[in-house]
Amino acid sequence: MPVSTEVHQYRLPEPRAVGDPRAAGVTILFGGLTEAHERLVEGAWEGLGYRVRGLPTPDNEALAIGREYGNRGMCNPAYYTIGNLIKFLLRLRQAGVPDIENRFVYLTAGSCGPCRFGMYEAEYRRSLAQAGFPDFPILVVQQADGLDQSQEGSGAKLERPFLLGLIRALMLGDILNELGHALRPYECERGSVDEALDEGRRWLYWALRDRESPVPALRRLRRRLDEVAVDYLRPRPKVKLTGEFWAQTTEGDGSYHMARWLEQEGAEVLVEPVGTWIEYLLWTRLQRSHDRRGLPREGRESHSGMLELRLRLGEMMFSSVYNTYRAAVGFRVEPLASMDALARYAHDYYNTRITGGEAFLEVAKTIYSVGRRKAHMVISIKPFGCMPSTQSDGVQVKVLADHPDALFVAVETSGDSEVHVQSRVQMMLQEARARAREEFESTAQRLGLAGLLDPAARPAGLPHPAPMAPLPRRAVGTATNYLWWLRRPAVLRSLPVPSEVLAEALRRYRRDPEKGA
Ligand code: SF4
Repeated sequence: MPVSTEVHQYRLPEPRAVGDPRAAGVTILFGGLTEAHERLVEGAWEGLGYRVRGLPTPDNEALAIGREYGNRGMCNPAYYTIGNLIKFLLRLRQAGVPDIENRFVYLTAGSCGPCRFGMYEAEYRRSLAQAGFPDFPILVVQQADGLDQSQEGSGAKLERPFLLGLIRALMLGDILNELGHALRPYECERGSVDEALDEGRRWLYWALRDRESPVPALRRLRRRLDEVAVDYLRPRPKVKLTGEFWAQTTEGDGSYHMARWLEQEGAEVLVEPVGTWIEYLLWTRLQRSHDRRGLPREGRESHSGMLELRLRLGEMMFSSVYNTYRAAVGFRVEPLASMDALARYAHDYYNTRITGGEAFLEVAKTIYSVGRRKAHMVISIKPFGCMPSTQSDGVQVKVLADHPDALFVAVETSGDSEVHVQSRVQMMLQEARARAREEFESTAQRLGLAGLLDPAARPAGLPHPAPMAPLPRRAVGTATNYLWWLRRPAVLRSLPVPSEVLAEALRRYRRDPEKGA
């Protein structure tokens, strides 16, 4: 049989134009974040008149469906998220819902690469066609386009309030998640923190849906969480989760439920806020603009004073709003790490102009967590075969050689090796536990509080800060920082803004992309 030698250029099919999803009366499906983020995004968009629905957290059934309909060689997050969408649509079809392709659209983030993320949109379309939904519309929020998402090719007109609502909901979701991870390990009554957070999430949902400021709801949440009883005299290892964006964010099988499992193992988990990624996008855009000073425009790449001003204003507004929300919860939530500081940390190891995946952030966050004494241990979660994370893991070898005290473990998620991954993490967690204990005991001796080491001999009526009061940041562990709090003069214990927060806030405003380059 003759073999054709003709070569055809592959062209992405033109997306079906949806226009304004409100006028078209379609329901926007989305997913891939945490439960808290997704419920709040629903509230923000429903408040603007959109019909929306966050998909359930992807599980291994979604992975299997994604592998069945997807191309070979896609990465794990693509299989999970595409499979999750197809699973949902197949269920709608089984339930007899008619006209699915005209009543629903899927909204996802997109980029032009350089890793396989650049092909997600095409893979979504191809897999949906294989599953029997050839005309199902995919709307793409291009990461590089910021608030300007109305250009041709996006398939829909997404206006600024839609994107601003998304950003606000993501910030609030970050705050809820961080509070949960900070307080759950110390709650006296199991489930009490989650109960309070569920109420807070409902208050925030309604604030966003009614297009009101979420600040009163955050203050109410602070008062509600202050009613929860906590016991800080439990030394817990602090474990920072980093890695590829989706793998470190998802709460389901895609990360082997890592954050919740670590909590069950007695750790306090530091999850990465989605806000860091938004700041990274602004920072890289500013860096690219800087690099093009004096050069003629090339495609969409250009430099102008106005563009730089807008980006700087965007950065300032983002951090101001985030800090306003932090203030409403009594600064119990950490500030976002300064992008300049992260770039400086990564500079000797990773060119900050290389993009793709988490770029220099994975390396920077490891050094930041160790150097700033934020965590006893760092876990980097990467999906099987992730190109940028594999690159980062190679660089981490040098980082660990230069920081021999760092406890770091990189794990790869493939959907079917949960026990193997957990046993690798367990080995290092054992060491982190020992460090947290040693730090607590030596500080207790040093501060003359050795009597607290024996639970049976602890004095009754020991003063305790309200759960939402920030502790000093003298050591890594929360229990050790509580000992420092006990040693503060009583008049300083209830300072509304601790000096550590002021120092951190000042550091964040010393920004210059050149410093990180
Ligand atoms: S960062 Fe890794 S897992 Fe994520 S899209 Fe790129 S290659 Fe895939």
